[in-house]
Amino acid sequence: MERTEPAPSGAILRRIPSIELLLERPALRDTALRVGRRRVVAAARAVTSDLRAAITRGDRSDINLESLERQIAAIASGEPSYSLRPVVNATGVILHTNLGRAPLAIEAARHAAEIAATYSNLEYDTDAGERGKRDIHVEQLFEELLGAPRALVVNNNAAAVLIALNTLADGAEVIVSRGELVEIGGAFRIPDVCAKSGALLREVGTTNRTRIGDYQTAINERTRVMLRVHPSNFRMEGFTERPQLAEMAALARERKVALMEDLGSGSLESLSRYGLHDEPNVAESLKAGVDVLTFSGDKLLGGPQAGVILGRPDMLTAIRKNPLFRALRPGKIALAALEATLALYIREGAEAIPALRMIQTPNAKIAERAQRLASSVTGFAEITVTVKDGFSVAGGGSSPGQGIATTLIAAVHRRMSAQEFARALRLNDPPIIARVEDENVLLDLRTVLKSEQEEQIVRALERLCR
Ligand SMILES: *Cc1c(COP(=O)(O)O)cnc(C)c1O
Repeated sequence: MERTEPAPSGAILRRIPSIELLLERPALRDTALRVGRRRVVAAARAVTSDLRAAITRGDRSDINLESLERQIAAIASGEPSYSLRPVVNATGVILHTNLGRAPLAIEAARHAAEIAATYSNLEYDTDAGERGKRDIHVEQLFEELLGAPRALVVNNNAAAVLIALNTLADGAEVIVSRGELVEIGGAFRIPDVCAKSGALLREVGTTNRTRIGDYQTAINERTRVMLRVHPSNFRMEGFTERPQLAEMAALARERKVALMEDLGSGSLESLSRYGLHDEPNVAESLKAGVDVLTFSGDKLLGGPQAGVILGRPDMLTAIRKNPLFRALRPGKIALAALEATLALYIREGAEAIPALRMIQTPNAKIAERAQRLASSVTGFAEITVTVKDGFSVAGGGSSPGQGIATTLIAAVHRRMSAQEFARALRLNDPPIIARVEDENVLLDLRTVLKSEQEEQIVRALERLCR
């Protein structure tokens, strides 16, 4: 493929529009009418000067007039321009940790916003007129959904594992299979978390095979916990073995130690209908007799960042009393979003949760959207698009190695390499994040939030043809 050298920054700098030209643009003329010409000129100077600096540093290699206009209008109108902003996720990775994992359902976002901007009964019992507990708002919902007798919520699953181990096994032993001593990412390594909790790690079995007998032999008078860990984004195939959860639960009961499970994703229901096998779910673990179960709120549950701890009332009461709980407790915004997410499961089922809806959308629907988008850009001179089969992934460490059949838009730009094309899309406003494979930019609409974001993709492609 022919490739053009990146333009020297001098040439790009000369393409920055003049202040006079910018002020002629209709949107900025309107802004000037509202806030006065002087403020628009000042904002235009600031924005173009930042842009000039970024181009000179080599951080930017294109100029997006609409985005410039929007920035200038926002600054002139006194609207803040934030660092944290929406992006279009066209990667097909549904629970993309770098892109904020699960998008909340509108109802959950709305409830969080409502509670955020007012006083609430976060820790107040309005009936008794006295202090209440922040846990009760979601505890009843977990009971209704799963029959879980008690629930606690902390900031994230890492915190949940830490506080549970610290409560149950500080200064004592915790047994973990060598096949489950994994690193989840972001430096969350099971051995390190054990060490920080004060528990002494006792490894059993081998990397590929661990049997119930290995746990049996390892249990001694210092053992408090048998820990089972979802290997998350790590997948072993071939000559492997690990005991059934129920076998482990029976052994734990017999030897009077606690069985704890770090479930990772924490799907509330089986996803094998949608082609995701091997993803354990919360109900199964509770049924198998796990004493303490932890999982994330923003993975397959589809809610806010949170760590959920379910299980035996006596153990959860002890965890609740741990002074670490105060350090790890969630804020009202997360609790409101979690409450609304769980309420949606009860009222409308999993289809009402955006992340689960994305997983469940049949490929035929994605193909239809991809075809429609592809046909609306066929007239664009510089870009060739084709539609082809591919895979989306759940992400967030769930169901590693298993794809969900999807339809991809493969795009090639005549004047740019695939890497440059992908970068230009990332510099769009809003940024569009795509995959690059074999000199193609791949867009997966499974993770693109319906029509508005599809429109943004079309507009970005159109702009890159100019
Ligand atoms: C994702 C994951 C964690 C960490 O959860 P966070 O909510 O990101 O803190 C811990 N354990 C497992 C098995 C995971 O998959």
